[in-house]
Amino acid sequence: MQKITLYTFMSNYLVMTRICPNCNYENQDDYDFCAKCGTPLIEGVQPNNILVFSAQPRLNKKILLVSYLVTILLSWGGFIVNIVSKNSYFGIFTFFGFFLPFYLVQSPIKELRKHGFIQLIISIVGVALSLYVMFK
Ligand SMILES: [Zn+2]
Repeated sequence: MQKITLYTFMSNYLVMTRICPNCNYENQDDYDFCAKCGTPLIEGVQPNNILVFSAQPRLNKKILLVSYLVTILLSWGGFIVNIVSKNSYFGIFTFFGFFLPFYLVQSPIKELRKHGFIQLIISIVGVALSLYVMFK
């Protein structure tokens, strides 16, 4: 059994997969047959000798969008709350904005790493603004 970490949990939601009914191998969602044992992943499809492998898995765009919203909300939230409430202690929560990008940049999937770096830049700007408001 695979150890469940936040990273594997997120990967499972960000990358659409087809679980093989025979060996439980996680295949990319555009595979019709299991990459490990060749079992058809769609009912009614018979295996043949040609397996097409795409270079990168497709990403779940809705979940990706949610991860962007969470990162923006967390990293910029502290800055906005600081401005509105004038209570600078809220600014410390801005660091939670690093949470998602930190995990995304460690992904083995190139496409996810790219989004991780974009989110990292978004959160660094948000955190910098929050700290500026806190310590000015
Ligand atoms: Zn299989």
